[in-house]
Amino acid sequence: MYGAGDVRVEDRPEPQIQAPTDALIRLSASCICGSDLWPYRGADPINEPSPMGHEYAGIVEEVGSAVSTIKPGQFVVGSFVASDNTCEICRAGYQTSCVHGESPGPAQAQSMRVPLADGTLVASADVPDDRLIPHFLAASDVLGTGWFAAVAAEAGPGKTVAVVGDGAVGLLGILAAKQLGAERIIAMSRHLPRQQIAREFGATDIVEERGEGGVDRIKDLTDGLGAHSVVEAVGTQESMMQAVRSTRPGGHVGYVGVSHDVTLPGAEMFFSHVHLHGGPAPVRRFLPDLMDRITRGEIQPGRVFDQQLPLEDAVDGYRAMDQRRAIKTLLTI
Ligand SMILES: [Zn+2]
Repeated sequence: MYGAGDVRVEDRPEPQIQAPTDALIRLSASCICGSDLWPYRGADPINEPSPMGHEYAGIVEEVGSAVSTIKPGQFVVGSFVASDNTCEICRAGYQTSCVHGESPGPAQAQSMRVPLADGTLVASADVPDDRLIPHFLAASDVLGTGWFAAVAAEAGPGKTVAVVGDGAVGLLGILAAKQLGAERIIAMSRHLPRQQIAREFGATDIVEERGEGGVDRIKDLTDGLGAHSVVEAVGTQESMMQAVRSTRPGGHVGYVGVSHDVTLPGAEMFFSHVHLHGGPAPVRRFLPDLMDRITRGEIQPGRVFDQQLPLEDAVDGYRAMDQRRAIKTLLTI
C-alpha cells in the first residue's frame, strides 16, 4: 500500500529464515482484512510503501534450527501477532501482548516468514481438503477475533447477546455467541446479504437502527434492560457508545473493532456499571479449539468470504471491500 486508495501488486524478495526460531510457509490462500481498510481510507497514515496482510494458513516449507514442534509439510494456522506462547502474558492467554511479540508476514503473498514458529503456529492433524481452506484461513484472524469478543462479552447460556457491526468479525461474533450457547442473539445490520449470513450463523433478531435508535431497539427487545453481552466490532465513537448503551448494568462489552479516536465519557461509564474488555484478540488462545471445530465440520466461518480473486487482482478486492460490495475477499494463490 503506497497511500490511501493506492494498492499495487509487486514482486518482492523471497522471504528467508532470519532467526533460528522462524518458519517459512507457503500460503494456501490469503485475504484482505477489514482493518486493512483503515489505511486504505486514509484513517491511518502511510508514510512509506507498506507490504500488507496478516491472515494466513498454509504449508510449512522450511524451519529454523531451533524450531522443534513445527515440521516442514505440516498445514498450519497462526495469528497476526507472533508469540512465544511461554511468557507469563502468553500463559495467561494474552498472546497478542507477548513480551517477545513480533509481526509475521506480510501475508498477502505466496509465501511468508513466521517468527517464533513453535509458539505461533498450530498444525492440523492432517493436511485438510481444499474446501476447508477458507474456514482455516478465517480462523487466523476474523473468527478468532469474533470468538474473543464473544468470550470477553461473557456470551453464554441464558444470555442475550447484541452485536454491533456486520463486517466479517461481527458476523463471526454471532457464530461464536451461538457456539458458546447464547439464548438470543441480536445482529445490528441494515444490509440484507449480511443479515442473511447473520441468521445462518445464529442471529435470532435483527436491528437495523443505529446510534440512539439502535440502543432504543435493543432496550425494547430486552424489557428495557439492555443486553447481557455486547460485541463491538467497528471501532468508532458511535459504535462504541452504541455498544456501551446497549448493555445492561452488570453486563459486558467485548470490543475488538480497532479503536479510532474513541473517547469514553467518564461519568457515564461510572454510572453504567458496564464491564469493558477487548483489544487485539489473542487468537492463538483459541486456535486449537477453533481448528478442531472446523475439522469436525461444526462451523463454517469461511462463509464470510463472498468474493474470491487471484492475488494479482488484490487491488479489485480492496476496492470492493471499501465500497462494501464484498464482506471479505479471499485471494487465491
Ligand atoms: Zn509470550
